[in-house]
Amino acid sequence: MSEDIRQSLGLRPVINVSGTMTSLGASIAVPEAVAAVPKIMTQFVEMNDLQRQASKIIARLTGAEAGFVTASCASGISLAVAGAITGPDLLAVEQLPETRTAKKEVIVQAGHIVNYGAPVDQAIRIAGGTVVSIGQATSTHRFHLENAITENTAAAVYVVSHHVVDYGLLHLSEFVEIAHARGVPVIVDAASEYDLRGFLATGADVVLYSGHKFLGGPTSGIVAGAKDMVRNAYIQNYGIGRGMKVGKESIFGVMAALEAWETRDHEGIRAREQSYLDLWKATLDGRPGITAVIDPDPTNNPLDRLKVMIDPAEARITAWDLSAALAAGDPPIIVRDHEAEHQYFYLDPCNLHPGQEHIVARRLGEELDKARRSNEIIATPIEDLSRHRFDGLLKWPD
Ligand SMILES: *Cc1c(COP(=O)(O)O)cnc(C)c1O
Repeated sequence: MSEDIRQSLGLRPVINVSGTMTSLGASIAVPEAVAAVPKIMTQFVEMNDLQRQASKIIARLTGAEAGFVTASCASGISLAVAGAITGPDLLAVEQLPETRTAKKEVIVQAGHIVNYGAPVDQAIRIAGGTVVSIGQATSTHRFHLENAITENTAAAVYVVSHHVVDYGLLHLSEFVEIAHARGVPVIVDAASEYDLRGFLATGADVVLYSGHKFLGGPTSGIVAGAKDMVRNAYIQNYGIGRGMKVGKESIFGVMAALEAWETRDHEGIRAREQSYLDLWKATLDGRPGITAVIDPDPTNNPLDRLKVMIDPAEARITAWDLSAALAAGDPPIIVRDHEAEHQYFYLDPCNLHPGQEHIVARRLGEELDKARRSNEIIATPIEDLSRHRFDGLLKWPD
């Protein structure tokens, strides 16, 4: 690797085995996107025309009629919902989040109202939408959706993610069928999904992606779908979308990332990631209190992770303490630990530079050896984690 800018900035040289994380700078941008950005930085462009070009590429890759680039997938949710509420009424666009219409209800299954770094429902509310939550956390039935739709329903939002409850809810095809039978458009948040065509093919009217997750573009979001709905979302750039502005560099960068996606060596990447998983599994197999299994992605992205299950009595450390020790180490290694209270975490192979897999293996071994030598089981009370989760944030910038 060339010079590591992090050193001169006084930043820790973190190794990311947690996946695509906003808090760590999302993903490694693909070379095509990196090369595209400087080409446009010093040029003036007519932004609506640049977005017209982006629309063509988005349409080609997704099968949509049209598309545009925005600041993030989260802003895509807000803009798409706003468009469903205002239609092409430019005065309504300027008035948001206040509205003159009662047709601003947005239906979401309770099990989809999750937090991806911010709450899904907030992205809807800042667009002037009133969230109508249907069903319960772990169950939605047809009758919930059928009865929630009224003349005030502007849209229905469906979230595809490892964050959502993954059983007992309505399948997208059924959700679309019921909504469309009553004239309600369906907006799908597919921020972190590889499948660029399937949700529209299932009948979604608008689908939203992150440009900076698997696509490896600059920070951005992609809105794709039916032309009128995409246009109504696009004109929000003259209203609430202004504060979510995307620059020419991100638009052009994500165009390059999309084109690169078409020719990406998906098989080769998968094989490389598999070799990392095999290495880590071999490192962990046979260690007391550790069980490592290769686990497929929960939303069927073509990606496996290593699930590292820990028996603290044997390993002499909890999953969350091991995660914290790795994050505090040299170099810092950030694992995917949002379910650590169940005594497991994941190692995600997608965001590594070549060679880092060996550092991860070495650090795992070192911390596990250290734990085995400790007199006491290293076990911070789980309640303490919750109690102190936001301490650092609330002291920022100190
Ligand atoms: C990451 C994510 C988002 C937010 O995406 P950004 O592009 O970072 O705003 C929204 N929804 C889901 C399901 C996500 O995983």
